[in-house]
Amino acid sequence: MNFNIEIPKIPELAIKMLLDSGFEAGVVGGCTRDALMGKVPHDWDICTSATPQEIQSVFKNFKMILMGLKHGTVVVLIDKENIEITTYRIDGDYSDGRRPDTVCFTRSLIEDLSRRDYTQNAIFYNETQGIIDPFNGRADIEDKVLKCVGNPDIRLKEDALRIIRGLRFASKLGFEVEKSTKIAMFNNKELLSKVSQERITVEFVKLLQGQNAMNVLDEFQEIIAYIIPETKAMMGFQQHNPYHCYDVWQHTLVALSNCNNLIEKLTMFFHDIGKPSCFTLDARGVGHFYKHPQVSFEITTKIFKRMKFTTAEGINSNDLKDILELIKYHDYPIEPKKNIIKKVLSKLNGNLVQFERLLSVKKADALAQAPDKLNHRLKEIQEIELIFHEVIKDSPCTTIKDLAITGSDLINLGIPVGEQIGKILKALLEQVINEQVSNEKDILLKEAGKYL
Ligand code: ATP
Ligand code: MG
Repeated sequence: MNFNIEIPKIPELAIKMLLDSGFEAGVVGGCTRDALMGKVPHDWDICTSATPQEIQSVFKNFKMILMGLKHGTVVVLIDKENIEITTYRIDGDYSDGRRPDTVCFTRSLIEDLSRRDYTQNAIFYNETQGIIDPFNGRADIEDKVLKCVGNPDIRLKEDALRIIRGLRFASKLGFEVEKSTKIAMFNNKELLSKVSQERITVEFVKLLQGQNAMNVLDEFQEIIAYIIPETKAMMGFQQHNPYHCYDVWQHTLVALSNCNNLIEKLTMFFHDIGKPSCFTLDARGVGHFYKHPQVSFEITTKIFKRMKFTTAEGINSNDLKDILELIKYHDYPIEPKKNIIKKVLSKLNGNLVQFERLLSVKKADALAQAPDKLNHRLKEIQEIELIFHEVIKDSPCTTIKDLAITGSDLINLGIPVGEQIGKILKALLEQVINEQVSNEKDILLKEAGKYL
């Protein structure tokens, strides 16, 4: 544990200005927690006994953003840096389980720390007072335990989002959820129906990216199944197939743990979600999942829309399209042959990054299957990778746009404007990919002439 918190110059200056004006002020929340854990905080949130009006008068010579004023937050611009300063507050009743009905400002630091969700997030620090930690958050950090501030059942009932936030912290920090907090999480999961979809999705996406995501998703299956009901069928679903040593859910989690970035993680989380509804058992008792990539693609398309995934940090609508495409092709057979690789590239609209991602996805998938075929599969992926790099050296023709002729050339040849133009271009592209003809204008025009 790191006992020496070093606040960077700019937030330190803001704290000093508040202290010099006779108020109490210090850092709190994620930054104090991360600093104590020896990590570099991504921002430094300041809390203070000064009211929002008093904060504004202390920083009257600075630019300020007052959008969060209702919740007591003033953003002060110091040396081009945004510093968030929030007045100590007590949250009023949570009659809807979503947001406090009222927010009351207070001069009491302890009252402010009591309204915070987990003990690790309720630690205050400034240089003169040192660490103020009334709920023993430091000990919990040391023991790697996640514990609610106060009575977990009451705290999670007030704001059910805290359940998913808790899972996110357990995943990100590798903490174990303390027993009574865990029981309260399960008991109150239905209250998540009152929480806005955007807030849940933001936390869920952070959860997926944590180092401990696999264990958290497994331990808290019922909660995950509550926020994404389509996952329920995967849990415990046996595959009855010699290629597989895990049920669909365990396979998904192991695959997820072998991914490097968010796009791949989201792909792996959803890639087999269609499996249970595609299951058939043949006469020999072997299970099959024909067409499951397409069904997974369809289910995930609906989930992305319903869960408003574009609101999550680090995801835009293009990423979602890429993820859906990867889900659709995750099982598409690729052989270590130039023309097959070009064909797959063509399916991916010539997108090289997507092809590389598809290989990573295939690797993660293989690593979560029965170990006896693993070496063979990994070797094959490696070979594909090598040939892919050779293929792209020559800037291959993989889309209609790369062809040495265009639709206008075909029209000039006398082919009537209409559907046929596209069909001919597609057929030519296939011939070029299969190396039956080379991508040269004269040759392609001659080939096209055959369609006249
Ligand atoms: P991160 O490092 O991801 O930003 P964080 O702990 O700073 O994590 P934030 O969402 O930025 O999380 O919230 C800042 C602080 O506000 C938290 O540490 C916690 O003290 C408090 N907080 C945020 N959301 C809630 C909530 N729903 N209920 C109670 N306290 C909360
Ligand atoms: Mg934060």
